[in-house]
Amino acid sequence: MHQKCRVTVSKVADYEPETLKSALVALLEPLGGMKAFVSKGERVLLKPNMLSAKNPSSAVTTHPAIVKAVADMALAEGCMVMIGDSPGTGSFQRVAEISGIAAAARESGCALVPFDNVQELHGDGIFKRINLASTYMAADKVINLPKLKTHEMMTMTCAVKNLFGAVTGKEKAVWHLKAGVSASHFARLLLEIYLAKKPALNIVDAVVAMEGDGPGSGDPVNVGRLLAGENPVAVDFVAARLVGIPPERLHIEREAAEMGLSGSRIEDIELLGIDEEIFSIRPFRLPEASGPQFGIPRFLAGRFRRYLTPLPVPDKKSCTLCGICLDACPPGAISVKKEAIEIEAGLCISCWCCRKLCPHSAMKVRKSLLLKCVEAFVRVKNQTSSSSCPSGISR
Ligand code: SF4
Ligand code: SF4
Repeated sequence: MHQKCRVTVSKVADYEPETLKSALVALLEPLGGMKAFVSKGERVLLKPNMLSAKNPSSAVTTHPAIVKAVADMALAEGCMVMIGDSPGTGSFQRVAEISGIAAAARESGCALVPFDNVQELHGDGIFKRINLASTYMAADKVINLPKLKTHEMMTMTCAVKNLFGAVTGKEKAVWHLKAGVSASHFARLLLEIYLAKKPALNIVDAVVAMEGDGPGSGDPVNVGRLLAGENPVAVDFVAARLVGIPPERLHIEREAAEMGLSGSRIEDIELLGIDEEIFSIRPFRLPEASGPQFGIPRFLAGRFRRYLTPLPVPDKKSCTLCGICLDACPPGAISVKKEAIEIEAGLCISCWCCRKLCPHSAMKVRKSLLLKCVEAFVRVKNQTSSSSCPSGISR
């Protein structure tokens, strides 16, 4: 019989170390504890979300208390533990220091390993050649430590999207350009990265998550939950349900279903040791730039695509002309003209890297009147068809 993907969810009030330690033990207990995933002597890589140099209270990066607690659990199993990532912007060392992850590594006695060198992989998927960090590929086990956040391009970032950190430095922009022609194509890339090296375990930091204009500029929300599971597609499915996002509207889940991957269908998943009350979270506010990706009447979707896609627009008052968005824009759609930022709409692929990485929140969202009307229509349609069961998953 087809084995179900097991996912657990625990409640935890805050990042206080002792509370967190107990919550993590309770979280992993139905899955067999940490010892079910790592063994003595193994080189275990922790892969937190280290998007940019923001302090823990901004909820942009995985909280250092979780990184430390998981590191300590793996160390207690006799593993050699490393902590690594390739940030979206800024140097690894600076992101590690400001996010508090460097201090967590020092306290636990773990090595910090920037993803600098790459290993070329020859896959049999759509993307024939992918360069991934050699440190990531060489680890005996990877423990994926995503932060649950909304995401302007993918609607939500959690376990699968966090693995994009295995793509190093400027290659991220290259892949945004190659695969970012559509969100579903980009989702396919993320899934192929996951298949290139499957994490042994995924533990989600949803103690304080992010809603609104994530992943870089959204608002922190106290969710008070940790999630864990072996399969990141299934973990994301449950995380989406937890914060009121229908998983079938996530490109990653839809693409995973197309590829026949387990974890993308409700019947694939088994929730262990939790009750319905764990899902009593108000739905997240989605990013302004994410737009109504599904539910648009078909006759409108193709013909008026240009008018149905939100576009970035710089706010002259808050823009300091720092140039970060110019460097980050994969197709080079951004330039400086007459001492102001200009965006060539025809080149923009709606990856929202500019908005995500702008340190001054100066990149705003412009929507056509048609798009605003369609959004209102889709919102009403979705409200009338939404399920009354918060989890909808078997236990
Ligand atoms: S990153 Fe932000 S502040 Fe810097 S140039 Fe771009 S819009 Fe302006
Ligand atoms: S302008 Fe912004 S959203 Fe458009 S392609 Fe460039 S970085 Fe991506």
